[in-house]
Amino acid sequence: MKEDVIEKYPFLRRGLIQYFGEGISLRAFLEENEYYLQKSADLLYKIMNGEEAAFPTSGEERVKNYIITKIILTYIRDYFISARYAIRERKALYDTLEKESDVRNLKSVSHELNVEIDRQDDRYLISIPSFLKNAVVFNDRELKLCNQELQEGYVVASKHVLSKIIREAFYRKYMQEVMEVVEFPSDVDRILGPIVSEVIAKGREIRQERANLGPLNEKSFPPCLAEIIDQMKKGANVSHAGRFFLVTFLHRIGLPNDEILKYFGEVPDFAEKITKYQIEHITGTGRGREYSVPSCQTLGSLGLCYKERDPLCSSGKISHPLSFYRTRNLGNRSVSKPGPVNRVDKSSDP
Ligand code: SF4
Repeated sequence: MKEDVIEKYPFLRRGLIQYFGEGISLRAFLEENEYYLQKSADLLYKIMNGEEAAFPTSGEERVKNYIITKIILTYIRDYFISARYAIRERKALYDTLEKESDVRNLKSVSHELNVEIDRQDDRYLISIPSFLKNAVVFNDRELKLCNQELQEGYVVASKHVLSKIIREAFYRKYMQEVMEVVEFPSDVDRILGPIVSEVIAKGREIRQERANLGPLNEKSFPPCLAEIIDQMKKGANVSHAGRFFLVTFLHRIGLPNDEILKYFGEVPDFAEKITKYQIEHITGTGRGREYSVPSCQTLGSLGLCYKERDPLCSSGKISHPLSFYRTRNLGNRSVSKPGPVNRVDKSSDP
């Protein structure tokens, strides 16, 4: 396999074996690549810290960064940290696929990610099970089965749609793999522990910040959210965007999915299984990624802002519903309880 193909798709197993050879121990590999290990940890820290982080896109650095970061994330085994990184890889892969002109590469990548495809003229046949398993992007019309052309058990897709399906298949597989329980030998633990401690601490800090939004206090909800909840309680049919906003907001202030589900009990088309699935998807606890809470500007453009109902909103000082909640909930904060840290590894806790 050519090196430039491995650089474009560093998750291809055949290429990796060819690139690094076989039979090398994890400890020896990490020791040999101490430079890249530090760089990968720095990159992760920057991503967690919301800093501009240059993502290596070619050469040896690209491949080594990919492998070592995956080792680190498997070691940390933290969904939140992994998802932040995986979203970057997901986007890099999509950009590469959109430019890809070699059908053999598309086939290799699809095969690696268990997406069954075939070529038909200038389009691609994707088996319906493969399509459905990966067409899980919230609110993406291009991936709805009802918008596809079907042919004998296959979806007939453009390369653009295929790229999206591969992108999602990659994300799902990546997240599954980094969340698997792996016992690291103590010599590897001694190498990785100190180097990733800051990344783990940053993840913990972000959770703590979230927890500091205070215990749930509906009285501090912004008018836009209060309106949606009110409509739901009355059994009105709240828009898709309104439901999306509700889920992201409640998740962000720390409500577990089961509690979020309760808000949907009164809606006329309530179907527990589907709603549960959608909540998991939006909050990134299922197969999806964690979506952000929309800003006031976005909510305004969707007709969901009711700023005239509250002096704080109408003062023009609020640009995000969470700022409203934080400000109103200020006196209600829990300062001593850190957020949960989803870490199972014990040896390298900072
Ligand atoms: S200004 Fe923002 S927080 Fe206030 S109602 Fe409008 S969208 Fe909600």
